[in-house]
Amino acid sequence: MKPVGRPRFRGVSYVLLLAACLVAAVVTGWTALGAQIDNNAYDFLFRLNPPEPWPLNSVVLAADEASLQKFGSMRRIRTILASVLERLSQARPKVVAIDVILADAGDEAEDARLETAFRNTRNLVLPCARTRATWELPLPRFSRWASAVGHVHTNKDPLDGVSRSLPVEEIAFGDRRWALSLEAFRLDSGGGPILESPGDIQVGGVVVPAVRRHGVRNMLIRYLPPQPDGASPIPTVTFAQMLGANPPVEKLRNKVVFVGIMAESAAWDRLMTPYSFGRTMPGVEAHAHAFETFNSGRFLRPAPETAAVLFSLLLVAAAGAVFWLLSGWPAYLAAVGVLLVAHLTPYLLFRRGIVFPYMGALAAAWLASVAAATYQHFVVRRNLLRSETERGRYRQAIHFVTHEMRTPLTAIQGSSELMSRYNLNDEKRKQMAGMINSESKRLARMIQTFLDVERLGEGQLELRREEYSLGDCLSTCIERARVIAERKQIEIVMEASEPCHLHGDRELMEYAFYNLLTNAVKYSPPETSVRVAVRAAAGDVRVSVADQGIGMEGAELKNIFLKFYRTRKAEASGETGTGIGLSIVEQIVTRHGGRIEVTSQPGMGSCFTVSLPFLRTAV
Ligand code: ADP
Repeated sequence: MKPVGRPRFRGVSYVLLLAACLVAAVVTGWTALGAQIDNNAYDFLFRLNPPEPWPLNSVVLAADEASLQKFGSMRRIRTILASVLERLSQARPKVVAIDVILADAGDEAEDARLETAFRNTRNLVLPCARTRATWELPLPRFSRWASAVGHVHTNKDPLDGVSRSLPVEEIAFGDRRWALSLEAFRLDSGGGPILESPGDIQVGGVVVPAVRRHGVRNMLIRYLPPQPDGASPIPTVTFAQMLGANPPVEKLRNKVVFVGIMAESAAWDRLMTPYSFGRTMPGVEAHAHAFETFNSGRFLRPAPETAAVLFSLLLVAAAGAVFWLLSGWPAYLAAVGVLLVAHLTPYLLFRRGIVFPYMGALAAAWLASVAAATYQHFVVRRNLLRSETERGRYRQAIHFVTHEMRTPLTAIQGSSELMSRYNLNDEKRKQMAGMINSESKRLARMIQTFLDVERLGEGQLELRREEYSLGDCLSTCIERARVIAERKQIEIVMEASEPCHLHGDRELMEYAFYNLLTNAVKYSPPETSVRVAVRAAAGDVRVSVADQGIGMEGAELKNIFLKFYRTRKAEASGETGTGIGLSIVEQIVTRHGGRIEVTSQPGMGSCFTVSLPFLRTAV
């Protein structure tokens, strides 16, 4: 009986199941659902981990609704802009970045005034935008006064429209433009060149993580949290304030000023951020947030895709190992540990500025844990069921054996009692002594057989190594089996064969062949025949015992060598048995370096073939 302990998994199918979980998890992470969950997790962590405040270097100078109403609508924007810049020059800002596209020629007087204002502005950055057909660039009369022209695009996530990152460069129509905010930062840092490597860019000694992936370089914008009343965290001055009686010049002094439109009626580039909750942010403010990200150096770095896949692999391996090595509560507790690691790692990494995709890791941990736990559950159940049936068969066999033992015991008891109580004559006495002797021998044989089974199973039985004639061995068995066969008028036929010698334990081999013969007789109807054939093949000799009996179902064949297993047909035949014989036969044959095979058809008969290593043919 095998003890029910730690489940014995079938390694390959278990590993395949876990591999399937890993593939499913990684693929789920790449689906739209996975990407959306990653987005939501990102926004949640983003709000949960606002960066420590730092002294801001930028100001937004923008036209709100009131400004446009007071000084004229967007039609007069160039004049308004010129007036604002004229006032702004008093504050001597470090950089002025304009977020109003000025690609078309307007009224000559208006354009001339704006041009003059631009000429008088130090470190001016003008905007450009990519349309389907071309770059929309500022009029040459404007751009000639600009220190840089930067693009004003931000990324909008295709799934939820939230802007989380900035394309630091835009390449189109044979031209490459850096972002407006990056140009502003470059000028603020001294106006040196932007150095590039595949993984990042460098501006004024600051390394910006912006890996080029699929031809685009994105940088995650570290938006600043809005103020409690929902107001922008970036200091803001409106055009109306600037053009009023007391312009807040000091607020703008030595700052990097982003000039644009924030009036909802006029700003076409309003966008959603992780902080939005439905309220949009004007593009000009987003540029200021991007600038502050460069300026503070508090970058968020997306983890490499390989790291995410590797982490998923680790989680799957951990969940697999948990249910491989443990069972019951310890396994479930350890699995909770694996799930916690999967949930907490992205959070802890985010706190260190590394953005880790949530979905792949979660899917890997959950799928692998559930699959491994289910697998274990079913294997445990299957093992339990198997041991239950084995135990049942064992009980039956013990029942049968004790019953069988009682018969000789009763005979011995009865005879010895008769002998002691009555004065029997010599002949009777001799007869009874003979009976006691033969029955106790039978009992001893039975006990020996059972002991041998156990010792054979544990590999403890020493095999004798002697040379013996196979023909003699088989004849002895056939003669013994004939006694039983004759009761059913079954003929045992030994086919003629060349004499051959084998090496091994003749007594045990006799036991094996005798068992095959008695089974053949037992499970055959009367007046049939059993044929024994010996064939020498290259290297081994094959002994087959074929009958015309009840046969066996194909599905049951693989079980008949298990201890205590009996086929349904055998049970129904009324023949008694323990289901032990064949398991001993198999062990004897394998201990001799041979093997046993069986072919059978229900109702047509069975044929057992024993192959043994061949010694030599006698001459
Ligand atoms: P048993 O004591 O039941 O005969 P064995 O271990 O010798 O035990 O055989 C195991 C089972 O294999 C039998 O119960 C029977 O179902 C099946 N079996 C063995 N030999 C034959 C045969 N010659 N024909 C049909 N069934 C057989």
